Order: sequence, then structure tokens, then C-alpha cells
Amino acid sequence: MYRLTAVTKDYQTNGKRVSALTDVSLTIDDGEWLAVKGPTGQGKSTLLQLLGGLSRPTSGSILVSGEDLSRMPDTRITRLRAETIGFVFQFFNLLPTLTAQENVEAALVPLGIRSSERRRRAAEALDSVGLSDRATHLPSELSGGQQQRVAIARALVKEPRVLLADEPTGNLDEDTAAEIIDLLEQRWRSRGLTVVLVTHDNAIARRAQRVAVMRRGRLTIAPSQTSALPDV
Ligand code: ADP
Ligand code: ADP
Repeated sequence: MYRLTAVTKDYQTNGKRVSALTDVSLTIDDGEWLAVKGPTGQGKSTLLQLLGGLSRPTSGSILVSGEDLSRMPDTRITRLRAETIGFVFQFFNLLPTLTAQENVEAALVPLGIRSSERRRRAAEALDSVGLSDRATHLPSELSGGQQQRVAIARALVKEPRVLLADEPTGNLDEDTAAEIIDLLEQRWRSRGLTVVLVTHDNAIARRAQRVAVMRRGRLTIAPSQTSALPDV
């Protein structure tokens, strides 16, 4: 699904250069579940943003199904994000003035799907995360776990090939976190999705097939069952 070769990402802040990613090479297979872990400030979010086409590498190449993200025109990247890549975030990122149903439908607007079809598919997606009875609620009327379910429905309603999740359980209690991970795992198994999930939690990282451990912008791969995952 992805092939990263010698990817570096630098940021300029106050005239100083910070290297958020340094010489990262990585292949992520179709249908793989990869966890990314490491302490704060090591480049995990930067890696996810690059995989999602939300920013571009300073150097190196990122192939998505053979196409080079670092050379793609903006319009092509926008389309790739709309069709192929679903995002889930720590703080859900739902639009506060839209209902659960409208938040999910919003993901289908850029695909040019007509409104009756959008309504039908969004209702189905909400049903599949167990939230049919909350369709007309605003995000502020839902619990954290319910909001994250809406966000998952929004990410998956377009049937993407990739799901990128940045600490999707970081703001949830342990039981709710476990439910959310179970839900993601079900979807991953049933749809052949490729999942890249950033987490601080070793128990969650171990659910993945491989774990990418990030330290100061460098990445090493560990099998998920190793006893040597860092405690952060
Ligand atoms: P995480 O919660 O994954 O540890 P951070 O809190 O470090 O992520 O960063 C959250 C977001 O803010 C990221 O999208 C990152 O790109 C951006 N960010 C992090 N550090 C800075 C910074 N020094 N200046 C500007 N943006 C930053
Ligand atoms: P993590 O997700 O592991 O917490 P990030 O990818 O958010 O790490 O950040 C890695 C490094 O890059 C940090 O030093 C952070 O401050 C810096 N950084 C991230 N995003 C930005 C940005 N937009 N502008 C400047 N510095 C950033």
C-alpha cells in the first residue's frame, strides 16, 4: 500500500530547523495493521500526516499504490484523501453544528454522491457502529466513545483502502478504548483495510501485526509480540 524511501521532514520554527522525521524507510502492505508508538514529540503525528497527504516530505519519496505522493498535484492528493484514506483523531474532530448523521454524510459530499444515496449510506454506517438511535444528536450530546464511533463511521462510509488513526483512544477511558479498538479490528478484518494506528498503549500496539517505534524522528520496526516494546 505504501513504500517510503529515505523520508525526511523538517520544520522551520523561529529560524531554527527541527527534523521531525529523519531518513525513514518503510513498507506497509495492503491489508496490514501497523501500530506506531513512542513518546511525545518523536515524529508520530508527522508520519501520519505524510501518509495522509496532509503535508509533504522535505526529501525522500512516499509511494501510495505505486503513485508518488511527494510529486502529486494538490488536486490529485485532495481526491486521494477523499476516496482512499479515512482519518480518525484523538479529539474526534466532528463538526459541532452538524448532527451525527450529517457529520457522516459530509465525507461523501466530495465524492459527488447524491443526497438520497448519502443519507442511506450514512444511516447504514451509523447503524454498523451501533448508533442508529443517535443519528439526530449533535456531538455535544454524545459521550466521548459515541463521538469516536461517529468519527469511525465518517472515516469508513466512503469505503477507503486505508485508515489512519492518531491516538484514537487517547481521550477515552479504558473500557471505552477497548470497545473502540474492537470495533476497528472488526472492520479491519472484514474489509481488508490497511490500518496505521498511533498509540502510547502497549496493549493496543500488540493488537497490530508490526509495531513501528519512533525515537527522535527515526523509526525501527518490531514484531508486535516482542517483550521489548518501550513503556511509553
Ligand atoms: P501528539 O498528540 O500526537 O503527540 P502533538 O501534540 O505533538 O501530537 O502535536 C499535535 C499537532 O500539532 C500535530 O499535528 C503536529 O504536527 C502539530 N505540532 C506539534 N508540534 C508543533 C510545533 N512545535 N509547532 C507547530 N505545530 C506543531
Ligand atoms: P509526536 O506525534 O510523536 O508527538 P510530532 O510529529 O507531533 O511528534 O512532532 C515531532 C517534532 O516535530 C516535535 O519536535 C514537534 O515539536 C515538531 N513539529 C511537529 N509539527 C510541527 C510543525 N507544524 N511546525 C514546527 N514543528 C513541528
